[in-house]
Amino acid sequence: MQVIPRSIYDEEHIMFKKSLEEFVQKELVPHNTQWEKDQMVSRESWLKLGENGYLVMQAPEEYGGLAIDDFRYNAIFTEVLSQAGLAGPAVGYPLHNDIVAPYILHYGSKATLEKYVPKMISGEMILAIAMTEPGAGSDLQGIRTTAEDKGDHYLVNGSKTFITNGYLADLVVVAVKTNPALGAKGISLLVMEADAEGFSKGQPFEKVGLHAQDTCELFFDNVQVPKENLLGGEGEGFKYLMTELAQERLVVGLGAIGAAEGVLRETIQYVQDRQAFGKSIGKFQNTRFKIAEMSTDIAMGRVFADHCLALHNKKELDAATASMIKYRLTDMQCDIADEGVQLHGGYGYIWEYQVARSWADARVQRIYAGTNEIMKELIARKFLGK
Ligand SMILES: Cc1cc2nc3c(=O)[nH]c(=O)nc-3n(C[C@H](O)[C@H](O)[C@H](O)COP(=O)(O)OP(=O)(O)OC[C@H]3O[C@@H](n4cnc5c(N)ncnc54)[C@H](O)[C@@H]3O)c2cc1C
Repeated sequence: MQVIPRSIYDEEHIMFKKSLEEFVQKELVPHNTQWEKDQMVSRESWLKLGENGYLVMQAPEEYGGLAIDDFRYNAIFTEVLSQAGLAGPAVGYPLHNDIVAPYILHYGSKATLEKYVPKMISGEMILAIAMTEPGAGSDLQGIRTTAEDKGDHYLVNGSKTFITNGYLADLVVVAVKTNPALGAKGISLLVMEADAEGFSKGQPFEKVGLHAQDTCELFFDNVQVPKENLLGGEGEGFKYLMTELAQERLVVGLGAIGAAEGVLRETIQYVQDRQAFGKSIGKFQNTRFKIAEMSTDIAMGRVFADHCLALHNKKELDAATASMIKYRLTDMQCDIADEGVQLHGGYGYIWEYQVARSWADARVQRIYAGTNEIMKELIARKFLGK
């Protein structure tokens, strides 16, 4: 559903979007209900995405990538999946492409790139990122997972929780303390293979929404990680996280506006079909005003989202603006999903209806990738300092 004309995409983007929409309808939508029951998407879906060139499109050609340095393609990927109401896939696949892969591509050693990037592109290796721990989420400096220097390798001990793609993951970027005495400056990032000895996973959590997403705990019991799997420099992890989190927040904002558009489309259809008091409920003034409000909010959100996307393509999206899109558009997504449920009446509360799923799926968007309260703190810092 396009509520306003958009000028952000060229002809080639529009063609890419069209063929992706066909792929999504044919290869993903028919499986989503089963994936919700399984609490994860299938491995085959990852391989299909890989075969069709939808994974890590930005990777250099020498590793088999398409070297696409235009984030509008990545944005279309998130937009199309979110608009289709595929909330689980719309979180897990972009996390692989836009949130985890950049750490490996930007900070990985040559050995790491050669070993892993081709399989990240083909879908043979699924990626996750593990920062949050049972005792530390917003306050990342408080993580307790340690990586002890043992000469040619690190010895990792600790645990992580709420990890997206965690159950299926083959490769995980893990935030560890290489020097616990140094706080943020003691944090490093390691690439860990999930089949390493001492690495284990919990069962996927039973979540309120995102049922097709395998979110789980990870445990490290004396896991040996080769030194070449350190990303960038030791003690630089926190700095890298702060650099890369802007893109993560943009992606969450883009997912939010896409999902809100999906809810609007479903709701417009429903209120035109549903009859009450001898007419369609779309004829009642309240319904008309709600659709007017929802579409206006989406139009404003879309303008801001496209603005942020354009800034990001010029490498000019700063932390505060990325926090604005994440906070505002996820709040809006929740409001729109709630209005959508209300306009569906009782059917809006039935899982079979897309709007019910969209409502449940929306809620976590205000929590992960940095809570919206933390986003407000980051925005305020720009204007008021720390
Ligand atoms: C479905 C799902 C998927 C996730 N995926 C991942 C993943 O892939 N990788 C990963 O590492 N993590 C992931 N997370 C974790 C997520 O990022 C954290 O849950 C989030 O950052 C909040 O941390 P917390 O749960 O420890 O809450 P807390 O930090 O304990 O926060 C609790 C409350 O206190 C508020 N609060 C905390 N500090 C402040 C402050 N300074 N000012 C104002 N309010 C504050 C918070 O806003 C929140 O309302 C996921 C979580 C979920 C639910």
